[in-house]
Amino acid sequence: MKLVTSVDDVSELTRSWREKGQKVVLVPTMGWFHEGHLSLMRMARKIGTRVIVSLFVNPIQFGPKEDLAAYPRDLERDRHLAEKEAVDVLFAPAVSDMFGQNFQTRVSLSLLSQGLCGSNRPGHFDGVATIVSKLFHISHPNCAVFGQKDLQQLAVIRQMVRDLNFDVEIVGHPIVRERDGLAMSSRNSYLTGDDRKNALCLYTAIIRCQKMVGNSRGKISITELISEAGRIIDSFPGCIAEYIQVVDRQSLKECQELDQNSVLALAVKVGGKVRLIDNAVLMDQ
Ligand code: AMP
Repeated sequence: MKLVTSVDDVSELTRSWREKGQKVVLVPTMGWFHEGHLSLMRMARKIGTRVIVSLFVNPIQFGPKEDLAAYPRDLERDRHLAEKEAVDVLFAPAVSDMFGQNFQTRVSLSLLSQGLCGSNRPGHFDGVATIVSKLFHISHPNCAVFGQKDLQQLAVIRQMVRDLNFDVEIVGHPIVRERDGLAMSSRNSYLTGDDRKNALCLYTAIIRCQKMVGNSRGKISITELISEAGRIIDSFPGCIAEYIQVVDRQSLKECQELDQNSVLALAVKVGGKVRLIDNAVLMDQ
């Protein structure tokens, strides 16, 4: 596996792969790899001839009060893990190489970036759409793999690809969980002591709501589900729900009635500081 830090070098390399007819698959990440990231890499390996993983803690998707400085980083550790997954290139550019002094452009989605995480993270999805556009232009992928854990991010990227005619196939990967159900996340490393136990409030609420939907054969009201999820989250010490919504997994519009595409989407602050998200479809597929 090659570690490449230069934008020009990676661009040249991936262009040469495409010229030889090789299928290039990109996995965009912010590093501090866990089993979720590694599963995306394995899926990319199955789909493509060449796998490129980007590792870039993107400053323009963090708000002024967010954890940009504290975000966990260890290039050597990540390099070792990516190498074991037979990744061809780990692309880890410097911020200065991605954003020159006079950088001014934003890719902005008017609707999908509002609501859910967008309500509490203004500008976040513009930052995501902008960096992913840049990565697509730089690394010439045929295909890119994203996790369904970031439900809104996946919807934003799919919409951006349609709107801007990117010739890139977007593949979603199911959520990878710890044995006890906690969705894997680089931010889980902030969870210490009781906060790690209390972080299970999200998965507990999901399982409970799925059971309620199953037992009622989908006839339960959405209001009832949301209030039960809220009750469960409140019952875990130090856990405060930022949002609890039932949305359509593609449009992200709030569901009026349950169907196969209805997703329970949650964001919760655990222990007053660690913000976790999770989601799951409510009906058996
Ligand atoms: P991040 O490094 O957190 O920006 O994540 C990079 C990619 O990995 C994104 O497409 C995420 O949705 C995906 N990802 C992160 N955690 C998980 C998980 N637990 N299961 C599946 N995909 C994930």
